[in-house]
Amino acid sequence: MDARLEAIRDTVLARNPGEAEFHQAVVEVFESLGPVHDRHPEFLDAAILERLCEPERQIIFRVPWTDDAGRVQINRGFRVEFNSALGPYKGGLRFHPSVYLGIVKFLGFEQIFKNALTGMPIGGGKGGSDFDPRGRSDAEVMRFCRSFMTELYRHIGEYTDVPAGDIGVGGREIGYLFGQYKRITNRYESGVLTGKGISWGGSLVRPEATGFGTVIFTQEMLKTRGTSFDGQRVVVSGSGNVAINAIAKAQSLGATVVACSDSSGYIMDEAGIDVGLLREVKEVERGRLKDYAVRRPGVSYVDGGSVWDVDATVALPCATQNELDGGAAARLVRGGLLAVGEGANMPSTRDAVAVFQEAGVLFGPGKAANAGGVATSALEMQQNASRDSWSFEHTEERLTDIMVGIHHRCAATADEYGEPGNYVLGANIGGFAKVAEAMLAQGLI
Ligand code: NDP
Repeated sequence: MDARLEAIRDTVLARNPGEAEFHQAVVEVFESLGPVHDRHPEFLDAAILERLCEPERQIIFRVPWTDDAGRVQINRGFRVEFNSALGPYKGGLRFHPSVYLGIVKFLGFEQIFKNALTGMPIGGGKGGSDFDPRGRSDAEVMRFCRSFMTELYRHIGEYTDVPAGDIGVGGREIGYLFGQYKRITNRYESGVLTGKGISWGGSLVRPEATGFGTVIFTQEMLKTRGTSFDGQRVVVSGSGNVAINAIAKAQSLGATVVACSDSSGYIMDEAGIDVGLLREVKEVERGRLKDYAVRRPGVSYVDGGSVWDVDATVALPCATQNELDGGAAARLVRGGLLAVGEGANMPSTRDAVAVFQEAGVLFGPGKAANAGGVATSALEMQQNASRDSWSFEHTEERLTDIMVGIHHRCAATADEYGEPGNYVLGANIGGFAKVAEAMLAQGLI
């Protein structure tokens, strides 16, 4: 790492003790940013990095609710409004028992650069709760969402902060959250949340956007090696929103997705995953992957195993942070891996990224490869602002243009800084420079 940035990094890590994921995200970005500070010493003089690492606002609140047995439950809610240089804070809400401030800050920090790369006018933020919606009834989820929004509503708004979904927060949760926001404020403010249902202000393609976008970005990387998804053998981790739509898109481009996972295990389906059945099991029935294996002949379910034990030419990690470590990366490389497109946020550890880069594997980091979700959220905001709704085809075309544009920006930046093909460097410098310039222009805020 550049010596000038080391001192800043040390201060940031010391100021934020015990936040391992936030530290990891900061260090990973800092490692790319030496060259951009050589060209722009004014960024150092204006302490842009120090400011970027300190969220503009962090909100932590109590979320009391009652379960179906009438017992009082207490969860913790978070919203970190990280940076508004380019627009209102924008980023999802995650409901998962692992959520604490360090995870929300890592996600919010990444979101700043991701949102900048989309070219849309959105700042960076993230939020969530340690609430676990798994196994909860609809009524319990609704009571939790109402309580969560009863505090959050005062901090958000279409010109202030616009949350969306993430792990554990899909259309059902966004619906309950929107209903409570409307009730408390007496305003039908469509632009306050994205990921809404189609009949009440949502955008077509938003549910598919992150997974589709990851595959489109990865396809652009494959093109640089004269190939495409057609005929690739693909492994996907996760079986949630991002994973399912990545599987659908990859197969529509001629790939065979032979495995995907949940937090209990993975399925092997050599014939290619049946997306219709997968949606039925996971989205309609809210079931587990082992239910898919029971219902489809020739499919095996590996309880507790790692999906990265399966050989593939393309890997799409779409579950969660740090799910793919150096050992798994080395194994995938030995199995003939050509490309990795991160649908999840920071799913590859720093060791894994190093293994991929040393082996010459095409590696698309999450902040670039999974930006299609937030970009389509920004398209949803545009439609809300103009009281319009676009067709699926038109919206998908816009998403494709945005993803091709992000790929081009990352590749061009990597070329410009003398590291062709280094999408990590391209994404970090491309996103950072845009935010830094806006922060400089707006003075010391
Ligand atoms: P979902 O809640 O829809 O699905 C998450 C999937 O990942 C589930 O299959 C879940 O399995 C699995 N998973 C979650 N935590 C773990 C864990 N600790 N270990 C193993 N598997 C796990 O979430 P999304 O699909 O929306 O999000 C997936 C990733 O994509 C996240 O990193 C998110 O930040 C990122 N992302 C999402 C966007 C979106 O638009 N939704 C936008 C950009 C990025 P199980 O059911 O067993 O828990």
